[in-house]
Amino acid sequence: MTVAVVQPSIANVHRADHAPRVIVVGGGLAGMAAAIALETAGVSVTLLEARKGLGGRASSFDDPQTGETLDNCQHVLLGCCTNLLDFYRRLGVSHLIHYERTVHFVGKGGRRNDLSGVRGLPAPLHLGPSMAGFSALTLRERVAVSRAMLAMLRLGRAGRAALSDTSFGQWLDDHHQSAALVQKLYDPILVGSLNEQCRDASAAYAIQVFQDAMLAHASGYVIGLPACPLGELYAKFPCRDVRLGTRVSGIRFTGASATGVELLGGEVLDADAVVLATNHHAVRRWVPEELATRDSRFARLGELESVPILGAHLWFDRPVLTDSHAAFIEGPLQWLFKKDAEGKAVHGVISAAREWVDVPRDEALKRFEQQIRAVFPRARDATLLRGVTVIEKRATFSPKPGVDRLRPPQAPPAGGIENLYLAGDYTLSGWPATMEGAVRSGYLAAEAVASALPSWFANRNRSYLVPDLSIQWPARMLGYR
Ligand SMILES: Cc1cc2nc3c(=O)[nH]c(=O)nc-3n(C[C@H](O)[C@H](O)[C@H](O)COP(=O)(O)OP(=O)(O)OC[C@H]3O[C@@H](n4cnc5c(N)ncnc54)[C@H](O)[C@@H]3O)c2cc1C
Repeated sequence: MTVAVVQPSIANVHRADHAPRVIVVGGGLAGMAAAIALETAGVSVTLLEARKGLGGRASSFDDPQTGETLDNCQHVLLGCCTNLLDFYRRLGVSHLIHYERTVHFVGKGGRRNDLSGVRGLPAPLHLGPSMAGFSALTLRERVAVSRAMLAMLRLGRAGRAALSDTSFGQWLDDHHQSAALVQKLYDPILVGSLNEQCRDASAAYAIQVFQDAMLAHASGYVIGLPACPLGELYAKFPCRDVRLGTRVSGIRFTGASATGVELLGGEVLDADAVVLATNHHAVRRWVPEELATRDSRFARLGELESVPILGAHLWFDRPVLTDSHAAFIEGPLQWLFKKDAEGKAVHGVISAAREWVDVPRDEALKRFEQQIRAVFPRARDATLLRGVTVIEKRATFSPKPGVDRLRPPQAPPAGGIENLYLAGDYTLSGWPATMEGAVRSGYLAAEAVASALPSWFANRNRSYLVPDLSIQWPARMLGYR
């Protein structure tokens, strides 16, 4: 999408005797990232979050039965999530992320295939030995995958972007990747990363996962798992004015400018600029039709398709999982994570979980129990003591071909609402709906605000986005640009 972006001045800030005041609505990762970036630039930020805790979709809740703090769903990051890692650094919680250099794929009967980078070898050579010995694939399939990976490398970033309207299914067919390969390799890697069936996703986003995570830099594929409930990562969020349990009920406008927000109780907060960092469903409700029609960012939001994710917290009477995680080659659960030292408490995830929305909880739990008992020999006699399933119906938008034409930029277009900015994983961030995408969108929104600050303000035109991991020499030699 090509949008003419104006550089609006943040209208009401004429004097140098008070810092520009920015309200950020929504304390998910996007809102927190925007708030922390602007706060460090010296802007006066107020972050408003409807819930009692920060984190939005990447947060924790107290289990009413036990009082235990559980995550709404296990969240996984990869080494290529440079902006998310920068955000954690700003929060001072980098040490709470534990890294796994080996990805454990588990097939029928518990047969394990590990994907592990050779230390010291640059990308994409680092994964070569693991891929060569990946016995879940036949020799012929391994050769086919190597060819596909080479093709992805040669595409580079520009070639990948040109495939944004093509389905990955089409690309796989064009590159002679069989249905068995989709089931054994592409789906286990991509469905969780994109929250979409891999054949239905945009080829650009599917190939980005391989390029960024596996082909360009040896650290890209490393899995990061929080060693604490997600909510604890944000416990000391370093912004002065964070108001939890504060629900915004509307945005105040004068002409084509936002003048502030109205809270549920009727209180009005004035602002020089507003960053809306809620999900896109809420955003569209708050902008009056007349303003929405002149601001192209709101034109196609309704066309974004939401895709559910299911998370299952499972407690067994004995240890069932030895490793920190397992990526299942066959479902129903796609990933399983160890949640206690012994491996009795585990968390299973199903992405693109459309067909699970109406499955009764007990039936779902029975199927997960059966799967775990069938796959892990040590769990054969294990009994599921308790299970909690959480299904987020609007977990993320579907990264289907052409989706970027529906996603709005963070900054207002020419003639749009001049001091209203958008942040959120659904905005144009260059990434699919992920924690990294959300943080990038927040940094981009902060950059857009900073570029519109008055000339007397010292920290205008600041940039917050962190670069991608560098491209290592073998990847460059193989044509990756
Ligand atoms: C089940 C599940 C599993 C996931 N797993 C992963 C994963 O493993 N790895 C990964 O990278 N990503 C994962 N994601 C995606 C990731 O969680 C999201 O992309 C990211 O958290 C979105 O952040 P956000 O700030 O854009 O939106 P949100 O987190 O939705 O934040 C919006 C915030 O706005 C607040 N809000 C809404 N209305 C109002 C109002 N009126 N007033 C004030 N506040 C309001 C909400 O309470 C919320 O806190 C997963 C998502 C889900 C749902």
